Amino acid sequence: MKAGIVGLPNVGKSTLFNCLSNAKAQSANFPFCTIEPNIGVVNVPDARLQKLETLVDPERVLPATVEIVDIAGLVKGASKGEGLGNQFLGNIRETDAILHVLRCFNDDNIIHVDGSVDPIRDKETIDMELQLKDLETVDKKLDKVKRAAKTGNKEAQKEEAVLLKLKTGLEAGTSVRAIELSKDDREEFVKPLQFITDKPVMYVCNVDEDAAATGNEYVDRVKAAVAQEDAEVVVLAVGTEADITELETYEERQMFLEDLGLEEPGSAKLIRGAYKLLNLETYFTAGVKEVRAWTIPVGATAPQAAGVIHTDFEKGFIRAEVIAYNDYVEFGSETKVKEAGKMRVEGKEYIVKDGDVMHFRFNV
Ligand code: GDP
Repeated sequence: MKAGIVGLPNVGKSTLFNCLSNAKAQSANFPFCTIEPNIGVVNVPDARLQKLETLVDPERVLPATVEIVDIAGLVKGASKGEGLGNQFLGNIRETDAILHVLRCFNDDNIIHVDGSVDPIRDKETIDMELQLKDLETVDKKLDKVKRAAKTGNKEAQKEEAVLLKLKTGLEAGTSVRAIELSKDDREEFVKPLQFITDKPVMYVCNVDEDAAATGNEYVDRVKAAVAQEDAEVVVLAVGTEADITELETYEERQMFLEDLGLEEPGSAKLIRGAYKLLNLETYFTAGVKEVRAWTIPVGATAPQAAGVIHTDFEKGFIRAEVIAYNDYVEFGSETKVKEAGKMRVEGKEYIVKDGDVMHFRFNV
């Protein structure tokens, strides 16, 4: 599961990527500077992990991670192959969620490809390229389905109706995720086509340092423009946060953040947002050797969760011993939780809850 960073050139994508992954992608005041898609593995900040660490005092602590891809090079005309457009659209198709970076800062030294700062216009430029690509997908499919529909095939006629609705929506500038369709139609006809504009999206407003805590007028406009999309909008001073990651000590970083009026880096909020966008959640294992956060898709069963640790755990699954995170913290240790009768034994059907602290019993 991975989230892709998209946006016009020079909005701060590579800076954000670097700041998230500490990888050294190139960043320069020049469009097309990041040509290879860069993939980074990012730790997911989770205060519960620190809490478990103080209770268990393990040898090591391993956080959950999420994969982030920096997808550069999207420009006007990309869907027609402008710039390195088609290649990048292909890279976006392989992601599971989109982090759409919008330039919400003024800086005359940083060239804007369209000459002025306007996050709404920028968003529409990118959206249109993605929508045009999806329109190609619809048209191709429609060609095939039409023939079958003409022969009186009921299923094909149903599909044709859905495709025509998608076509009308996309041509009017609506992304697939925002086109009104029944759940069944989405499941049956939309999902298999893996539209780019059907992927969940989060908007990242890149602001100046002084707007890190408060946002600015650009941010307000973005929020208003995406209100119907039910998408999260995160405000982030990307350039400043990149500077913060360069600081040596935790205390220095914390002081810098306080100066900005922030309790934690905006990037932490962004990473957690991406994790949620990917429909992922966390369960923990907590032992003296290791306290660790494991990533599962929302709705995973106990054996599936066990399978994340090792496929043998899933195959040989017998049962799981489960402690709710809040119980673990309230009673302070596994032994005390057991004494209080708060440890549950769960079977194959159990749907794991976010924050469960688990032990698995299995046959080898
Ligand atoms: P990309 O093309 O979207 O990947 O953009 P980059 O991350 O390479 O950034 C382009 C230029 O904008 C670089 O010179 C960055 O230092 C600068 N930049 C990035 N974020 C900010 C910001 O929040 N404020 C200002 N003033 N400059 C920024």
